[in-house]
Amino acid sequence: MNVLVINAGSSSLKYQLMNPETGDVAAKGLCERIGIDGRLTHKTSDKKVEMEIAMPTHGEAIQAVMDALLSEEHGVIKSVSEIDAVGHRVLHGGMKFSESCLINDEVLATIEECTPLGPLHIPANLLGIRACQDKMPGTPNVAVFDTAFHMTMPPKAYRYAIPTKYFEEDDVRRYGFHGTSHKYVALRTAELVGKKEFKMVNCHLGNGSSMAAILNGKCQDTTMGLTPLAGVPMGTRCGDIDGGVIQFLCNKYGYSVDECLNILNKKSGVLGISGVSSDFRDLEDGAKKGDEACQLALDKFAYEVAKYVGAYAAALNGIDVLTFTAGVGENGISNRAAICEYLGYLGIKIDPERNNVRGKEALISTDDSKVQVWVVPTNEELMIARDTAELVK
Ligand code: ADP
Repeated sequence: MNVLVINAGSSSLKYQLMNPETGDVAAKGLCERIGIDGRLTHKTSDKKVEMEIAMPTHGEAIQAVMDALLSEEHGVIKSVSEIDAVGHRVLHGGMKFSESCLINDEVLATIEECTPLGPLHIPANLLGIRACQDKMPGTPNVAVFDTAFHMTMPPKAYRYAIPTKYFEEDDVRRYGFHGTSHKYVALRTAELVGKKEFKMVNCHLGNGSSMAAILNGKCQDTTMGLTPLAGVPMGTRCGDIDGGVIQFLCNKYGYSVDECLNILNKKSGVLGISGVSSDFRDLEDGAKKGDEACQLALDKFAYEVAKYVGAYAAALNGIDVLTFTAGVGENGISNRAAICEYLGYLGIKIDPERNNVRGKEALISTDDSKVQVWVVPTNEELMIARDTAELVK
């Protein structure tokens, strides 16, 4: 079986053609500058091509993807019928979707209703879906929501302590994101530790970061909220912040709320503190050269992640497994060490030798650690492909 996994943004579209059983990727690539001019990067196991192709809309982008997949020189299939289904990453499923869903007109309309919750992403996700329906009539499409995994949270975790009216009438609550990644890591960790019933905290630490408290594979709490701004500090997002700061900055500088939110989303986080970069490698280089602001950004990040591990250990009344995933979680050896340094009171002990690993599955805790600590590289595309295959079977 072949599933085409699509992640459509407003001006870009990532794709992978993969086997959902084995996870083998036949081809993958990226359309960029959609609506501007258009560029396609397409990779197979042995070839990489880059082409300028006019992409006024997502329709031409999908056409370019299909042409690349079918090409004589760098293609991997002979006919469109070899694509059994398309799985789409959709940012927000609101209260409407607690699992992945085969797309029909009704589902499309319901996704559209979620637009106020993801005003930048959902329209782009819909463009990707409609372009596939248009260019591949007859091929089933599946929506996989970034929020769905978190829909098992209890009300005490997802409700905000604001007047009930905003929840009941406007759906304002914690949703959480990176759900596809948290779900993949939760399932994979269950295989690695060889059991289904355990308490785990997953740290998805990348450019955007979120954490999830997971009991027996089901999400109990997560750090992001109505939007991805909440939780731990990220590359450029501030994470949790006193709402009063927004009022203060707007009053002091005459910013609109949108301008202020732009600062909190794009200019804050470790970039904001360091003044140097949102990339953790740059911060480490800076800190090594004695840049105190870079060191503070790294310290702040590790401190806040560790605080949430403590909070989630309380929420779960204990913790059996701690997992690290995504760019920083998989590669940041010193970031992991700095986080775990705070967690000795939970009986967490990592082995420096075992922790000296990047980008692969590894148990990094000592044999006598009370909590197993694992690096588990995420694979959101495989999760999307599996959900898609499951639904079209
Ligand atoms: P995104 O949220 O954009 O998907 P990723 O999960 O790909 O992000 O993570 C990207 C981040 O991973 C980069 O910003 C970089 O800071 C971090 N990263 C990559 N390699 C390393 C490394 N060797 N050490 C520390 N951080 C790393």
